[in-house]
Amino acid sequence: MADQYLLPCDCGLRVGVNAGQAGATVRCACGRMLDVPTMRGLARFPREEDAAGAHGGASWGLRQRLICLGLIIAAVGSGTGVYLLVTRPAFPQERIDDFTEQRIEAIRDAAPRWTPEQTLRVWRYIQRNGLQEVEHPIARRYRESVAPRDYVTLIALAIAGLGLLLAGGVTFFYRPR
Ligand SMILES: [Zn+2]
Repeated sequence: MADQYLLPCDCGLRVGVNAGQAGATVRCACGRMLDVPTMRGLARFPREEDAAGAHGGASWGLRQRLICLGLIIAAVGSGTGVYLLVTRPAFPQERIDDFTEQRIEAIRDAAPRWTPEQTLRVWRYIQRNGLQEVEHPIARRYRESVAPRDYVTLIALAIAGLGLLLAGGVTFFYRPR
């Protein structure tokens, strides 16, 4: 198979031409017509041993690079995001239940020994604060410990989205002329 010379086009692609096409005109994949230099001029261009790969200007231009970059960003972002989601620690409901049970038992054990004054103080406390639900300390610690990683997860998924937008945007809207 004859050696192919890689003729650069303004679109960024390179068109493979062989010595037999010296002085002729070839069409790039983008549609531009390119003048192939004479044999002497052709020698200045890089050669491509793999003629099949270079045929029709199959080398990588800006468009392909941008699409590839977008896909890499999307892969890294979604990989990180999914990893963080999969390894996210579960809500410690069981620990909270155990803890609450122990507290209730402790109060139940202690309550009969309260003096009237202590009972009144508990009563006033409940009157003042109501029996509203308060966040359990274990739940709060959990929430505070997962918040930073949830934040990173969101950022990673957002970056993945941007990568997809880049790849998709270049694929559909960037057409070199
Ligand atoms: Zn071109």
